[in-house]
Amino acid sequence: MVGATGIEPVTFPVSGGRSPAELRAHPVWAGSVSCRGRGGKGRGIGARQKLWNCARIVTAAPGCGLIPRNMDLPMPRLAELPQPGPFLLSRPAYQRAPLVFASPHSGRDYPAAFLAESRLDALSVRRSEDSFVDELYGAAPKLGAPLLAATFPRVYCDANREPWELDPAMFDGPLPAWVNSASPRVGAGLGTIARVVASGEPVYRRRIPFREAEERVQRCWQPYHAALGGLIAETRNEFGCCLVVDCHSMPAHPAQQGLPDMVLGDAHGTACAPRAVRRVEEQFWSMGYRVRRNDPYAGGYVTRHYGRPRDAVHVLQIEMARSLYMNETTIERLPQMSVLQRDITSMIAALMAMDWDFLRG
Ligand SMILES: [Zn+2]
Repeated sequence: MVGATGIEPVTFPVSGGRSPAELRAHPVWAGSVSCRGRGGKGRGIGARQKLWNCARIVTAAPGCGLIPRNMDLPMPRLAELPQPGPFLLSRPAYQRAPLVFASPHSGRDYPAAFLAESRLDALSVRRSEDSFVDELYGAAPKLGAPLLAATFPRVYCDANREPWELDPAMFDGPLPAWVNSASPRVGAGLGTIARVVASGEPVYRRRIPFREAEERVQRCWQPYHAALGGLIAETRNEFGCCLVVDCHSMPAHPAQQGLPDMVLGDAHGTACAPRAVRRVEEQFWSMGYRVRRNDPYAGGYVTRHYGRPRDAVHVLQIEMARSLYMNETTIERLPQMSVLQRDITSMIAALMAMDWDFLRG
């Protein structure tokens, strides 16, 4: 999340339709191809399974005015992704339930070249991190569910955006026509390549070349989504459904007084079965946390893009108040982080023991 600018709360009219940029990135939504999966219990799963692993990679042709080429390179399959890659994938010995946990914003591997071109100091540049969220959900694999965590920082490349949400004002030349420069995230400086950190300070000293955005999307965004898409496809094939819990944390912000402890985002009821949201809500309630739905965080790209209840894929975004576990000024863990971690572990354990067959639709 990024709370300071209030951008992540943007509440789009979410429908079954996908934006052109999403269709470009994930042809799974653009049509279907007949190919059988490995015969799991899911209904009609095999027909689309391979497509989860495909994405278009658009590359500017050198010296010819940013003409897209090579539009349909296949995205690597989950098993083929390089390790270590731009993410950590912790798998359980045995997946017990159709749950997948993902943390796209907790990465903290800052490339030296990026730090060199940033005007921010080493601490300020970390303001956009959902710090330590991967640790808070670290028990998931032991309890029987995979945990995917980006290692690249959100300010470097945001996996909770469309692949090509870019701000023309950041780049030293024209952007290809297919880039989405009109989104409210871009307008707030928080596109795929962020112009500002959560506190609103600009990241870069000068404009950067478009090829840098391309490299980041190809090296970070695409492998992360190949892994997430692969986990969803595997899980749906095995269980007939999948619930992705997209894990985030939110800062305290003066403009958002009265924020609860947790905000559950299901894109206003379109990305996740209400019964699943209620289960998570009740778990947090039972532990004394204040919970709100969709206000001010209804869900980002991951929630809107993958959450397709009619295809038995559900996504629920959880935003936790950072004040529960960290010092936002020094970006350090507070002693009470262990309490939150214990409670999240309890919540995961409770969810893993439940029957999720209703998610098949
Ligand atoms: Zn986040």
